[in-house]
Amino acid sequence: MSELTSDTGAALHMAVIGTGPAGLGAAWRLHKAGHRVKLFERNGQLGGRMRTQHIDGFQIEDGPTQIAGSYTRFLSIVKESGLGDQLIPASTVLGMLDENGRCHDFEVAKIHRDMARTKLISFKEKLDLARITLDVVKHRAKLDVEDLSKMAELDHMSAEQYGRKRFGHGAYENFVDPVIRGFVGTAPNTVSASDLLWVFAAFMKIQKYYALKDGMQIYAEMACKPLRVWQIRGHTFFVPTGTIEADSKALHAGRTCELPREGHDAAGIESAR
Ligand SMILES: Cc1cc2nc3c(=O)[nH]c(=O)nc-3n(C[C@H](O)[C@H](O)[C@H](O)COP(=O)(O)OP(=O)(O)OC[C@H]3O[C@@H](n4cnc5c(N)ncnc54)[C@H](O)[C@@H]3O)c2cc1C
Repeated sequence: MSELTSDTGAALHMAVIGTGPAGLGAAWRLHKAGHRVKLFERNGQLGGRMRTQHIDGFQIEDGPTQIAGSYTRFLSIVKESGLGDQLIPASTVLGMLDENGRCHDFEVAKIHRDMARTKLISFKEKLDLARITLDVVKHRAKLDVEDLSKMAELDHMSAEQYGRKRFGHGAYENFVDPVIRGFVGTAPNTVSASDLLWVFAAFMKIQKYYALKDGMQIYAEMACKPLRVWQIRGHTFFVPTGTIEADSKALHAGRTCELPREGHDAAGIESAR
């Protein structure tokens, strides 16, 4: 916690943008360190890409489903926020569709065996993909999400540029592209080459994966439990319980954190300062 304290040890006024896992994690840690946090969200729903739907008795995740065992900081907030008994083992099978709609399974814990056996990619593409293992081993020490400066030397091209150049178009399109989209949730031309290596390092690591029994969105609801939900001029934001802002309207304090669903105008953040 010491890195979260000010020079004088006084509580600071902090603003955190976004209620995805990154924003919620930052707000939680800052609030626990005693700072006064305002958490802003432009969507009418908490959780960023974590979004759980319940339809006809089925629980469906629109975004992330699996929590890797190596996400120790995320898992510690899960436990601190009282969700420890929600953690259940998650499947580690990744299914990829070919052009005929046939699903090819890859068991993450047995990835090298399943890569050798799969008919999703050709023998040549498998040989091309072997370079991923070499690259991950070579750069493993730099793939540190806690210290992004170590990854700077890998950051001069996009994951797509790196993937096509290093593994060839076939291996890239039939395997690398879908794996990155599945793990990061965005197109490889929008993320760095270091993300590609980070994803495959995680993919090749033998580790446990977890899910939350009642869905990922419950994490967002619990992480903001010690915060109050407020709305000012069209924007929603949260302040720690006990801090009252003039001209603001309390929406909700507590667990369920229902937010309005309409879009909000960008001017709200400026005016909320
Ligand atoms: C389909 C899918 C499946 C995935 N599966 C997994 C998985 O199984 N495991 C895994 O670890 N990861 C998975 N991911 C990736 C994971 O969802 C992301 O890595 C994670 O959500 C990133 O968190 P974040 O907080 O950085 O961003 P986001 O989750 O995108 O949250 C950002 C938030 O900030 C808000 N925001 C942005 N700009 C502003 C602004 N100016 N003002 C106010 N609010 C703002 C946005 O509205 C949003 O709510 C998946 C992603 C997708 C799409």
